[in-house]
Amino acid sequence: MNDSARVVVITGGSMGIGRAVALKFAEEKAKIIVAHYDPDDSASSTTLELLGRYGAEATSHKVDVSDYGEVEALFKDTIDRFGRVDVLINNAGIARDALLMRMSEDVWDTVLKVNLKSVFNCTQAVVRSMVKMKKGRIVNISSVVGQIGNPGQANYAASKAGIMGFTKSIAREVAGRGITVNAVAPGYIKTDMTDALSEKVRDAFLEQIPLRRIGEPNDVAEAVYWLCSEAAGYITGQVIHVSGGLFM
Ligand code: NAP
Repeated sequence: MNDSARVVVITGGSMGIGRAVALKFAEEKAKIIVAHYDPDDSASSTTLELLGRYGAEATSHKVDVSDYGEVEALFKDTIDRFGRVDVLINNAGIARDALLMRMSEDVWDTVLKVNLKSVFNCTQAVVRSMVKMKKGRIVNISSVVGQIGNPGQANYAASKAGIMGFTKSIAREVAGRGITVNAVAPGYIKTDMTDALSEKVRDAFLEQIPLRRIGEPNDVAEAVYWLCSEAAGYITGQVIHVSGGLFM
């Protein structure tokens, strides 16, 4: 086992943006812990297979990131096994769209729990050990929608705006301990989440993207990975938009 390899936890690392982030860390042969939710392990198995090709030590865990106890157990196991967590990527997220007048309480609560409470759960579970080490990197995946809003996504936008406020507050709390906390706000990125949208919605977004293309998961992963590098050590409490200029 390579003891100098970084220990990296990526929530929602089984597919989409999370998988692309995991692949970036695999290039440096990090020890990667992929958390995902679906009992169907096929996406996470593919991810582990891809990570293995780089010689990275990777495991996947089925965890509901909105569940405080499950998250606590995941981080306890990880720290017991590896002694630390160097990097936390809070990436897991869902969308359950509806216009406000038709949005059920359950749909509101579910999105807020999975997208925002999860970030509290995971960050709190890891921060003590990072404080002890006097170093650490936390990157939270927000969304351009948290900044500009989107009809039908009041729950999603609120959760993603909440991540921005959380990021800045925790960045201030832990900056003195050598830990940076930043957010990345993707625009429209091609993943299963956006594949669910109609061509009409996609085309409407495309119209508004100055760089005139839909983003790829790797566009986001590059920014996330860089924020976790030594080179980005003087950057904290920031929201970096990766949206082809959709928000500027
Ligand atoms: P995706 O392809 O749908 O992947 C979502 C990931 O989150 C999956 O690995 C999924 O695992 C996991 N997940 C969902 N609920 C979970 C739960 N309760 N506990 C643990 N893991 C859970 O989505 P994506 O497009 O890559 O999005 C990744 C992040 O980027 C999300 O936070 C999303 O809001 C944000 N984002 C995406 C876009 C975009 O255009 N795609 C734009 C802005 C922001 P299972 O499948 O195993 O449940």
